[in-house]
Amino acid sequence: MITASSGARITPSVTSDWRQLWREAVTDSRELLDLLALGHLAGRLPADDAGFALRVPRGFVARMRPGDARDPLLLQALPQLAELEQTPGFVTDAVGDLASREAQGVLHKYQGRALLIASGSCAINCRYCFRRHFPYGDEMAAANQWQEALEHVSHDKSINELILSGGDPLSLATSKLEELSRGLAGLRHITRLRIHTRLPVVLPERIDAPFLEWLHALPLQKVVVLHANHANEFDSTVDAACAGLREAGATLLNQSVLLRGINDNADALVALSERLFAAGVLPYYLHQLDRVQGAAHFEVTDEQAQALVETIRTRLPGYLVPKLVREVEGDPSKRPM
Ligand SMILES: *Cc1c(COP(=O)(O)O)cnc(C)c1O
Ligand code: SF4
Repeated sequence: MITASSGARITPSVTSDWRQLWREAVTDSRELLDLLALGHLAGRLPADDAGFALRVPRGFVARMRPGDARDPLLLQALPQLAELEQTPGFVTDAVGDLASREAQGVLHKYQGRALLIASGSCAINCRYCFRRHFPYGDEMAAANQWQEALEHVSHDKSINELILSGGDPLSLATSKLEELSRGLAGLRHITRLRIHTRLPVVLPERIDAPFLEWLHALPLQKVVVLHANHANEFDSTVDAACAGLREAGATLLNQSVLLRGINDNADALVALSERLFAAGVLPYYLHQLDRVQGAAHFEVTDEQAQALVETIRTRLPGYLVPKLVREVEGDPSKRPM
Protein backbone atom coordinates (compact mmCIF):
# COMPACT_ATOMS: atom_id res chain seq x y z
CA MET A 1 0.00 0.00 0.00
CA ILE A 2 1.16 3.49 -0.80
CA THR A 3 0.14 6.20 1.61
CA ALA A 4 0.21 9.84 0.61
CA SER A 5 2.94 11.70 2.49
CA SER A 6 0.35 14.22 3.64
CA GLY A 7 -1.11 11.50 5.82
CA ALA A 8 -4.49 11.63 4.09
CA ARG A 9 -6.31 8.32 3.85
CA ILE A 10 -5.52 7.98 0.19
CA THR A 11 -4.50 4.42 -0.40
CA PRO A 12 -4.32 3.49 -4.06
CA SER A 13 -5.11 -0.13 -4.71
CA VAL A 14 -2.19 -2.56 -4.89
CA THR A 15 -3.51 -3.86 -8.20
CA SER A 16 -2.50 -2.50 -11.58
CA ASP A 17 -5.46 -4.15 -13.31
CA TRP A 18 -7.09 -1.12 -14.89
CA ARG A 19 -10.54 -2.71 -14.92
CA GLN A 20 -10.40 -3.18 -11.18
CA LEU A 21 -9.06 0.35 -10.66
CA TRP A 22 -11.91 1.60 -12.81
CA ARG A 23 -14.44 -0.19 -10.61
CA GLU A 24 -12.80 1.14 -7.45
CA ALA A 25 -13.18 4.79 -8.50
CA VAL A 26 -14.66 7.20 -5.96
CA THR A 27 -18.34 7.73 -6.80
CA ASP A 28 -19.53 9.29 -3.55
CA SER A 29 -19.03 13.04 -3.16
CA ARG A 30 -18.86 12.84 0.63
CA GLU A 31 -16.21 10.16 0.47
CA LEU A 32 -14.16 12.34 -1.88
CA LEU A 33 -14.38 15.26 0.55
CA ASP A 34 -13.45 12.99 3.47
CA LEU A 35 -10.42 11.62 1.60
CA LEU A 36 -9.20 15.19 1.18
CA ALA A 37 -9.89 16.28 4.76
CA LEU A 38 -12.67 18.53 3.47
CA GLY A 39 -15.60 16.76 5.10
CA HIS A 40 -16.82 20.05 6.58
CA LEU A 41 -17.86 21.13 3.06
CA ALA A 42 -20.39 18.30 2.64
CA GLY A 43 -23.26 20.71 3.35
CA ARG A 44 -22.42 22.60 0.15
CA LEU A 45 -22.93 19.60 -2.13
CA PRO A 46 -25.87 19.70 -4.54
CA ALA A 47 -28.52 17.01 -4.12
CA ASP A 48 -28.13 13.97 -6.38
CA ASP A 49 -24.74 15.26 -7.68
CA ALA A 50 -26.71 17.85 -9.70
CA GLY A 51 -27.88 15.09 -12.01
CA PHE A 52 -24.41 13.95 -13.16
CA ALA A 53 -22.76 11.34 -11.00
CA LEU A 54 -19.38 12.00 -9.47
CA ARG A 55 -16.72 9.58 -10.69
CA VAL A 56 -12.98 9.91 -10.20
CA PRO A 57 -10.25 7.24 -10.07
CA ARG A 58 -8.36 7.01 -6.78
CA GLY A 59 -4.99 7.58 -8.43
CA PHE A 60 -6.26 10.95 -9.67
CA VAL A 61 -7.59 11.78 -6.19
CA ALA A 62 -4.08 11.12 -4.87
CA ARG A 63 -2.86 14.04 -7.02
CA MET A 64 -5.27 16.46 -5.33
CA ARG A 65 -3.99 18.57 -2.43
CA PRO A 66 -5.64 17.55 0.85
CA GLY A 67 -7.30 20.43 2.65
CA ASP A 68 -7.54 22.64 -0.46
CA ALA A 69 -11.14 23.31 -1.50
CA ARG A 70 -9.84 25.24 -4.55
CA ASP A 71 -7.63 22.41 -5.78
CA PRO A 72 -7.68 22.52 -9.61
CA LEU A 73 -8.16 18.76 -9.93
CA LEU A 74 -10.88 18.59 -7.30
CA LEU A 75 -12.84 21.38 -9.01
CA GLN A 76 -12.93 19.37 -12.25
CA ALA A 77 -14.61 16.44 -10.50
CA LEU A 78 -16.67 17.69 -7.54
CA PRO A 79 -20.37 18.54 -8.03
CA GLN A 80 -21.11 22.18 -7.16
CA LEU A 81 -24.32 24.02 -6.30
CA ALA A 82 -23.54 26.40 -9.17
CA GLU A 83 -24.35 23.60 -11.61
CA LEU A 84 -28.03 23.96 -10.73
CA GLU A 85 -28.18 27.53 -12.06
CA GLN A 86 -29.96 27.97 -15.36
CA THR A 87 -27.94 30.39 -17.49
CA PRO A 88 -29.34 31.74 -20.77
CA GLY A 89 -27.37 30.45 -23.74
CA PHE A 90 -26.19 27.34 -21.93
CA VAL A 91 -27.98 24.38 -23.46
CA THR A 92 -27.99 20.59 -23.37
CA ASP A 93 -26.62 20.07 -26.92
CA ALA A 94 -23.97 22.77 -27.10
CA VAL A 95 -22.08 21.61 -30.18
CA GLY A 96 -24.93 20.30 -32.32
CA ASP A 97 -23.80 16.71 -32.08
CA LEU A 98 -27.30 15.35 -31.92
CA ALA A 99 -27.95 16.75 -35.39
CA SER A 100 -24.86 15.33 -37.06
CA ARG A 101 -24.64 11.97 -35.32
CA GLU A 102 -25.40 9.03 -37.52
CA ALA A 103 -26.97 5.90 -36.13
CA GLN A 104 -23.76 3.94 -35.93
CA GLY A 105 -21.85 6.52 -33.87
CA VAL A 106 -20.02 8.20 -36.75
CA LEU A 107 -19.63 11.99 -36.81
CA HIS A 108 -18.37 13.28 -40.11
CA LYS A 109 -18.22 17.07 -39.87
CA TYR A 110 -14.76 17.86 -41.21
CA GLN A 111 -13.10 16.95 -44.48
CA GLY A 112 -10.85 13.89 -44.41
CA ARG A 113 -11.61 12.97 -40.81
CA ALA A 114 -14.36 10.77 -39.45
CA LEU A 115 -14.92 10.68 -35.73
CA LEU A 116 -16.28 7.54 -34.12
CA ILE A 117 -18.13 7.81 -30.84
CA ALA A 118 -16.49 4.58 -29.83
CA SER A 119 -17.78 4.38 -26.28
CA GLY A 120 -19.94 6.46 -23.96
CA SER A 121 -18.00 5.62 -20.80
CA CYS A 122 -15.35 7.67 -19.03
CA ALA A 123 -13.20 6.90 -16.02
CA ILE A 124 -13.80 10.41 -14.72
CA ASN A 125 -16.88 12.57 -15.01
CA CYS A 126 -15.67 16.09 -15.78
CA ARG A 127 -18.17 18.64 -14.54
CA TYR A 128 -17.78 20.92 -17.59
CA CYS A 129 -18.42 18.15 -20.13
CA PHE A 130 -21.29 18.14 -22.64
CA ARG A 131 -21.54 14.44 -21.85
CA ARG A 132 -23.38 15.24 -18.64
CA HIS A 133 -26.55 15.44 -20.74
CA PHE A 134 -25.96 12.25 -22.79
CA PRO A 135 -25.76 9.18 -20.63
CA TYR A 136 -25.37 7.13 -23.79
CA GLY A 137 -24.60 3.44 -23.74
CA ASP A 138 -21.27 1.74 -23.45
CA GLU A 139 -20.65 0.74 -27.04
CA MET A 140 -21.59 3.00 -29.87
CA ALA A 141 -19.48 2.68 -32.99
CA ALA A 142 -17.93 -0.39 -31.37
CA ALA A 143 -21.22 -2.30 -31.46
CA ASN A 144 -21.44 -5.34 -33.78
CA GLN A 145 -17.71 -5.56 -34.37
CA TRP A 146 -17.69 -1.92 -35.56
CA GLN A 147 -19.53 -3.11 -38.65
CA GLU A 148 -21.80 -0.16 -39.38
CA ALA A 149 -19.13 2.42 -38.61
CA LEU A 150 -16.56 0.74 -40.86
CA GLU A 151 -19.16 0.33 -43.57
CA HIS A 152 -19.68 4.09 -43.62
CA VAL A 153 -15.96 4.77 -43.70
CA SER A 154 -15.30 2.19 -46.43
CA HIS A 155 -17.64 3.99 -48.81
CA ASP A 156 -16.01 7.40 -48.46
CA LYS A 157 -12.51 7.46 -49.92
CA SER A 158 -12.05 11.09 -48.92
CA ILE A 159 -11.58 9.96 -45.32
CA ASN A 160 -7.93 9.25 -44.50
CA GLU A 161 -8.02 9.69 -40.74
CA LEU A 162 -10.18 7.84 -38.28
CA ILE A 163 -10.65 9.45 -34.87
CA LEU A 164 -11.73 7.35 -31.93
CA SER A 165 -13.53 9.54 -29.44
CA GLY A 166 -16.34 9.23 -26.95
CA GLY A 167 -16.78 9.18 -24.04
CA ASP A 168 -13.39 7.58 -23.78
CA PRO A 169 -12.49 5.04 -26.48
CA LEU A 170 -9.86 3.44 -24.24
CA SER A 171 -12.66 2.41 -21.88
CA LEU A 172 -13.14 -0.39 -24.41
CA ALA A 173 -11.37 -3.68 -23.84
CA THR A 174 -8.24 -4.16 -25.93
CA SER A 175 -10.02 -7.09 -27.61
CA LYS A 176 -12.58 -4.58 -28.93
CA LEU A 177 -9.75 -2.49 -30.37
CA GLU A 178 -8.33 -5.62 -31.99
CA GLU A 179 -11.67 -6.11 -33.71
CA LEU A 180 -11.34 -2.60 -35.09
CA SER A 181 -7.87 -3.12 -36.47
CA ARG A 182 -9.01 -6.34 -38.16
CA GLY A 183 -11.88 -4.40 -39.75
CA LEU A 184 -9.54 -1.62 -40.85
CA ALA A 185 -7.10 -3.98 -42.54
CA GLY A 186 -8.94 -3.80 -45.88
CA LEU A 187 -9.43 -0.02 -45.88
CA ARG A 188 -6.39 1.31 -47.71
CA HIS A 189 -7.56 4.94 -47.74
CA ILE A 190 -7.29 5.12 -43.93
CA THR A 191 -3.68 6.06 -43.18
CA ARG A 192 -4.00 7.51 -39.68
CA LEU A 193 -5.68 6.48 -36.49
CA ARG A 194 -6.18 9.16 -33.87
CA ILE A 195 -7.35 8.43 -30.33
CA HIS A 196 -8.88 11.15 -28.14
CA THR A 197 -8.53 9.96 -24.57
CA ARG A 198 -8.26 11.22 -21.01
CA LEU A 199 -7.32 7.79 -19.65
CA PRO A 200 -3.50 8.11 -19.85
CA VAL A 201 -3.93 11.06 -17.47
CA VAL A 202 -6.73 9.96 -15.16
CA LEU A 203 -6.15 6.17 -15.16
CA PRO A 204 -2.67 5.66 -16.63
CA GLU A 205 -2.76 1.95 -15.72
CA ARG A 206 -4.99 1.55 -18.78
CA ILE A 207 -1.89 1.92 -20.93
CA ASP A 208 -0.87 -1.65 -20.19
CA ALA A 209 1.32 -4.07 -22.14
CA PRO A 210 -1.46 -5.71 -24.24
CA PHE A 211 -2.74 -2.28 -25.28
CA LEU A 212 0.73 -1.05 -26.19
CA GLU A 213 1.35 -4.19 -28.22
CA TRP A 214 -1.87 -3.57 -30.13
CA LEU A 215 -0.93 0.06 -30.77
CA HIS A 216 2.59 -0.77 -31.83
CA ALA A 217 1.42 -3.41 -34.31
CA LEU A 218 -1.10 -1.11 -36.02
CA PRO A 219 0.08 -0.54 -39.59
CA LEU A 220 -1.07 3.09 -39.54
CA GLN A 221 0.30 6.40 -38.35
CA LYS A 222 -0.86 6.92 -34.78
CA VAL A 223 -1.81 10.08 -32.95
CA VAL A 224 -2.97 10.13 -29.34
CA VAL A 225 -4.60 13.35 -28.17
CA LEU A 226 -4.64 13.51 -24.39
CA HIS A 227 -6.83 15.76 -22.30
CA ALA A 228 -5.18 17.47 -19.33
CA ASN A 229 -6.08 20.90 -18.00
CA HIS A 230 -3.52 21.46 -15.27
CA ALA A 231 0.12 20.55 -14.63
CA ASN A 232 -0.85 18.86 -11.34
CA GLU A 233 -2.61 16.13 -13.32
CA PHE A 234 0.81 14.69 -14.15
CA ASP A 235 2.87 12.36 -12.00
CA SER A 236 5.33 9.55 -12.67
CA THR A 237 2.53 7.10 -13.57
CA VAL A 238 1.28 9.48 -16.26
CA ASP A 239 4.84 10.02 -17.50
CA ALA A 240 5.24 6.24 -17.81
CA ALA A 241 2.00 5.93 -19.78
CA CYS A 242 3.13 8.72 -22.13
CA ALA A 243 6.54 7.10 -22.60
CA GLY A 244 4.86 3.80 -23.46
CA LEU A 245 2.61 5.47 -26.02
CA ARG A 246 5.57 7.19 -27.66
CA GLU A 247 7.58 3.97 -27.77
CA ALA A 248 4.60 2.33 -29.48
CA GLY A 249 4.95 4.92 -32.23
CA ALA A 250 2.29 7.47 -31.33
CA THR A 251 2.62 11.23 -31.72
CA LEU A 252 1.31 12.76 -28.48
CA LEU A 253 -0.76 15.94 -28.38
CA ASN A 254 -2.93 17.47 -25.69
CA GLN A 255 -6.17 19.37 -25.66
CA SER A 256 -7.32 21.43 -22.72
CA VAL A 257 -10.43 23.34 -21.83
CA LEU A 258 -10.01 26.86 -20.47
CA LEU A 259 -11.75 26.72 -17.09
CA ARG A 260 -12.41 29.55 -14.67
CA GLY A 261 -10.81 28.93 -11.30
CA ILE A 262 -8.78 25.99 -12.65
CA ASN A 263 -6.38 27.13 -15.38
CA ASP A 264 -7.48 30.68 -16.26
CA ASN A 265 -4.18 32.36 -15.47
CA ALA A 266 -0.93 32.63 -17.38
CA ASP A 267 1.16 30.85 -14.74
CA ALA A 268 -1.10 27.77 -14.81
CA LEU A 269 -1.12 27.64 -18.61
CA VAL A 270 2.65 28.07 -18.86
CA ALA A 271 3.20 25.36 -16.24
CA LEU A 272 0.83 23.04 -18.12
CA SER A 273 2.66 23.49 -21.43
CA GLU A 274 6.03 22.94 -19.76
CA ARG A 275 4.78 19.85 -17.93
CA LEU A 276 3.27 18.43 -21.11
CA PHE A 277 6.53 18.81 -22.95
CA ALA A 278 8.43 17.18 -20.10
CA ALA A 279 6.15 14.16 -20.65
CA GLY A 280 6.81 14.23 -24.40
CA VAL A 281 3.45 15.81 -25.29
CA LEU A 282 2.82 18.92 -27.42
CA PRO A 283 -0.07 21.28 -26.64
CA TYR A 284 -2.63 21.22 -29.47
CA TYR A 285 -5.90 22.97 -28.66
CA LEU A 286 -7.04 25.20 -25.82
CA HIS A 287 -10.80 25.07 -26.10
CA GLN A 288 -13.21 27.75 -25.10
CA LEU A 289 -15.86 25.99 -23.00
CA ASP A 290 -18.82 24.47 -24.83
CA ARG A 291 -21.85 26.32 -23.48
CA VAL A 292 -23.34 23.38 -21.68
CA GLN A 293 -26.09 23.76 -19.12
CA GLY A 294 -24.61 23.43 -15.63
CA ALA A 295 -21.11 24.60 -16.65
CA ALA A 296 -21.60 28.38 -16.86
CA HIS A 297 -19.51 28.98 -13.72
CA PHE A 298 -16.46 27.62 -15.60
CA GLU A 299 -16.70 30.09 -18.47
CA VAL A 300 -13.89 32.53 -19.25
CA THR A 301 -14.78 35.49 -21.50
CA ASP A 302 -13.38 35.53 -25.05
CA GLU A 303 -11.48 38.75 -24.28
CA GLN A 304 -9.83 37.22 -21.24
CA ALA A 305 -9.04 34.02 -23.16
CA GLN A 306 -7.37 35.94 -25.96
CA ALA A 307 -5.41 38.09 -23.52
CA LEU A 308 -4.20 34.97 -21.70
CA VAL A 309 -2.93 33.36 -24.88
CA GLU A 310 -1.17 36.59 -25.87
CA THR A 311 0.54 36.58 -22.48
CA ILE A 312 1.70 32.98 -22.64
CA ARG A 313 2.94 33.58 -26.19
CA THR A 314 5.51 35.97 -24.69
CA ARG A 315 6.62 33.36 -22.16
CA LEU A 316 6.82 30.13 -24.14
CA PRO A 317 8.44 28.84 -27.31
CA GLY A 318 5.94 28.93 -30.16
CA TYR A 319 5.56 25.16 -30.18
CA LEU A 320 4.28 25.20 -26.60
CA VAL A 321 1.47 27.70 -27.26
CA PRO A 322 -1.84 25.87 -27.85
CA LYS A 323 -4.30 27.09 -30.48
CA LEU A 324 -7.25 28.84 -28.85
CA VAL A 325 -10.42 27.56 -30.54
CA ARG A 326 -14.13 27.31 -30.15
CA GLU A 327 -16.40 24.71 -31.68
CA VAL A 328 -19.18 26.35 -33.66
CA GLU A 329 -22.03 24.30 -35.08
CA GLY A 330 -21.87 24.13 -38.86
CA ASP A 331 -18.27 25.35 -39.19
CA PRO A 332 -15.92 23.25 -41.38
CA SER A 333 -13.26 23.18 -38.65
CA LYS A 334 -12.73 24.28 -35.07
CA ARG A 335 -12.89 28.09 -35.13
CA PRO A 336 -9.59 29.84 -34.27
CA MET A 337 -10.04 32.87 -32.05
C1 LIG B 1 -12.98 18.17 -33.18
C2 LIG B 1 -13.45 17.22 -34.22
C3 LIG B 1 -12.55 16.63 -35.12
C4 LIG B 1 -11.08 16.87 -35.08
O1 LIG B 1 -10.75 18.14 -35.49
P1 LIG B 1 -9.20 18.53 -35.64
O2 LIG B 1 -9.22 19.99 -35.89
O3 LIG B 1 -8.67 17.72 -36.78
O4 LIG B 1 -8.55 18.14 -34.36
C5 LIG B 1 -13.06 15.79 -36.09
N1 LIG B 1 -14.39 15.52 -36.18
C6 LIG B 1 -15.27 16.07 -35.33
C7 LIG B 1 -16.71 15.75 -35.49
C8 LIG B 1 -14.83 16.93 -34.31
O5 LIG B 1 -15.73 17.44 -33.46
S1 SF4 C 1 -13.12 12.40 -20.01
FE1 SF4 C 1 -13.69 13.75 -21.72
S2 SF4 C 1 -15.65 12.95 -22.49
FE2 SF4 C 1 -15.28 12.05 -20.45
S3 SF4 C 1 -16.36 13.40 -19.00
FE3 SF4 C 1 -14.22 14.12 -19.13
S4 SF4 C 1 -14.24 15.71 -20.74
FE4 SF4 C 1 -16.13 14.51 -20.93
